[in-house]
Amino acid sequence: MSKSESLQKNNVDFLIIGSGIIGTALSIEIKKKYPQRSVLLIDKEKQTAYHSSGRNSGVLHAGFYYTADSLKALLCRQGNEILTDYCLTMKLRINQCGKLVVAKNESELEGLNTLSKRAQVNGVTLHEITEKEALELEPRVKTHQRALYSPKTSVIDPKEVLNHLLEQAQKMGVLFQADTAFIKNLGQQKVLTSKQEITAGYIINCAGLYADQIAKQYGFCKDMTIIPFKGIYLYSDQNPTVSPLKRHIYPVPNLNNPFLGVHHTITVDGKSKIGPTAIPAFWREQYSGLSRFNAKELVEISTQELKLFLNSNFNFRELALTEFKKYYKPNLVHEAQSMAKEVHLNDYKHWGKPGIRAQLFDLKKQALVMDFCYQGDSHSFHVLNAVSPAFTCSIPFARLMLEKIEQHLSSPMNSSPTADTETKAGDLIHGI
Ligand SMILES: Cc1cc2nc3c(=O)[nH]c(=O)nc-3n(C[C@H](O)[C@H](O)[C@H](O)COP(=O)(O)OP(=O)(O)OC[C@H]3O[C@@H](n4cnc5c(N)ncnc54)[C@H](O)[C@@H]3O)c2cc1C
Repeated sequence: MSKSESLQKNNVDFLIIGSGIIGTALSIEIKKKYPQRSVLLIDKEKQTAYHSSGRNSGVLHAGFYYTADSLKALLCRQGNEILTDYCLTMKLRINQCGKLVVAKNESELEGLNTLSKRAQVNGVTLHEITEKEALELEPRVKTHQRALYSPKTSVIDPKEVLNHLLEQAQKMGVLFQADTAFIKNLGQQKVLTSKQEITAGYIINCAGLYADQIAKQYGFCKDMTIIPFKGIYLYSDQNPTVSPLKRHIYPVPNLNNPFLGVHHTITVDGKSKIGPTAIPAFWREQYSGLSRFNAKELVEISTQELKLFLNSNFNFRELALTEFKKYYKPNLVHEAQSMAKEVHLNDYKHWGKPGIRAQLFDLKKQALVMDFCYQGDSHSFHVLNAVSPAFTCSIPFARLMLEKIEQHLSSPMNSSPTADTETKAGDLIHGI
């Protein structure tokens, strides 16, 4: 870093912590609207897209899972349209393969009806089709009598999209500094990082798995904490005797459970994978083995999970028991076999890169927070629970957050952060 560059980075109008899809999209929106203001985007990792934003299914969701009162419903359809256009215009890879939602038996047909109604209310295109029509769209699909077809669901390479957006941000004048961790709020708009002390007019926390901890330093996120849930994937080899799957195939989600269950995802290059699971993790970045082991987190998180297991709040016990079994390949493949024909255990040899959801947990209600959530005041803003489908929603979500930040900046200084916070809680299910 040259001397003038480092001076520039010591004193900025906006400091954004975390260069995942949310922080990056927000940096673009701020710079677009306020080109004269300085925006510094920092990330603790040397590599870009190291966490959730580079470790997800890459599905651009259509927006039919969520109840109309949620931010997810408000932002998903629009987010899908914007990112689809972005990829097509910028010539980034996108596979507009569509998605089928299938029923295993008679009892799941009601679930299809619920999703269909939600699609209507949310203005999302979703076709109710017969089993025969489903087979025409995907000859290997298995469903009971009927299915749903979402033509707008597609898939992109999330790392490619994020890196492209990050490049655009820098072209617009956003200063990006990797390998720089937020360490401490020093008060009076000063922040200690692993590289330098920064004074920022406004501080924005988009730190994913660590967003709750940073928010707490500013007096927010008091009764909430992040519980990490790990998603693992298994890739299928190309078996010459089996025709490759062409469409995503998802099960009917269990409304008592916040995750969508194992499904078949097609990648941008036409490969197929099964997953992701939702296995409770014991520390935030527990990607594999003892990687990034954190003893303090292990104690805190496993204590929390043990309490949930014993009390079985939100069916945690059942969820944990079912999900842990999916570490065993035959169990994971068995689940995928219920949705498609010719799914052979021997074809699924390669584990993909796992991702970890930064799932917010409400300590008072003892329940998972289902919708996106943000809190802020005239000094700082905190994006919490940017779980799926936050990648799809990222651009309209960033626009909405900028509006909220502008409102905070034009309101008188508020000394009591809790009085000036907003949490949106919506549906019972995520769209992964
Ligand atoms: C398994 C899985 C599958 C998913 N599938 C989909 C999907 O198909 N479609 C979809 O729309 N969404 C999907 N999602 C959700 C999506 O990936 C996330 O909602 C999105 O990536 C969140 O972005 P983010 O910027 O908030 O977080 P992140 O990408 O985690 O970015 C946060 C950044 O903050 C940085 N950071 C953390 N602490 C600090 C610190 N102290 N100082 C500086 N930097 C810090 C991290 O290094 C990281 O780069 C999936 C998620 C998972 C886990």
